[in-house]
Amino acid sequence: MSRFWTKKITELDPYVPGEQPQDKQYIKLNTNESPYSPSPKALAAMSAMVNESLRLYPDPNGMTLKSALANQYQLDTKQVFVGNGSDEVLALAFMGYFAGGKPLAFADITYSFYKVYANLYDIEPQLIPLTTDFDIDPTDYQNLDVSGVVITNPNAPTGKALPLSDIESVLQANPDVVVLVDEAYVDFGAESASRLIHQYPNLLVVQTFSKSRALAGIRVGYALGHPDLIEGLERLKNSFNSYPIDRIALAGATAAVEDADYLKEICDKTIATRKWTHTQLTDLGFNVLPSATNFVFVTHPEKDAESVYATLKEQGILVRFFGSNKARIGNYLRITIGTDAEMRALIDALKAL
Ligand code: PMP
Repeated sequence: MSRFWTKKITELDPYVPGEQPQDKQYIKLNTNESPYSPSPKALAAMSAMVNESLRLYPDPNGMTLKSALANQYQLDTKQVFVGNGSDEVLALAFMGYFAGGKPLAFADITYSFYKVYANLYDIEPQLIPLTTDFDIDPTDYQNLDVSGVVITNPNAPTGKALPLSDIESVLQANPDVVVLVDEAYVDFGAESASRLIHQYPNLLVVQTFSKSRALAGIRVGYALGHPDLIEGLERLKNSFNSYPIDRIALAGATAAVEDADYLKEICDKTIATRKWTHTQLTDLGFNVLPSATNFVFVTHPEKDAESVYATLKEQGILVRFFGSNKARIGNYLRITIGTDAEMRALIDALKAL
């Protein structure tokens, strides 16, 4: 702590990201990255971009990427916003649409960054507990007096998904505020709310290239919504930094969108490996929540999650443990779905416990 720190800095409660240890090569099942390499077309496009044109600024509008996304979702480019990872898109949406008034509704438990942004922008969280089965119950999102609603679908770290009819009922119950649907994991088995954009001017769908598209390293995310909502995000972004994405990331992300076959191939592989992992973990006595994501959320009635985490780490396998002081999820682990070989190594290690 420095004597120059303001009250604002002192009171921040920054996000603690999953470990990215550099000491040795781990089987990394702790941060929901893809175990597969990005689309070969994306890699080729990024290599081709490493040339003398890097001396130039990128396109401030990221138009090639917006066009590719607009094409994929049958939207206008004015309905697409792009940013440095969905974390940046979320931060701008929180600042622009949720700050300065009533509390913001989101689930308890969900992506822990929302609390960090809320703290940063002086937004009071209105935490809405999950049901005892770790579900989001849309009837809990009626009659709210809030600045907005965030629904994570599928939710993290639980992995459970809502049907679109439930998302619609939240949108209908909250017509005067922005309902942000964070779909970071949607490609692994849930239905995207993007097709509701024409009906609901209060809907903002946020997605990422970090998970299903295996491009966490280039930091690209996007939002889809009514042109007025998107224009608001553009105004905010341009007040900070008018170049959203660098040239290499823009080239890679655009090529990745255009390679739909590869996306399907690696999502299908992940889903098949998830099914296998679910069965194996169940056979070992774990309770495994049904997952529509690239991870599973598990607990064992007789084993301590922290010691399982620690033993696996010693053996070079990293999974996510949220801390023994975390209510309800203290004895849960979140395990990313890796390759078949990585998951076999995990199951072998757990059998030996
Ligand atoms: N939303 C959710 C629910 C997430 O789990 C993550 C990744 N940790 C993100 C958003 C952010 O992803 P990124 O910034 O890599 O796009």
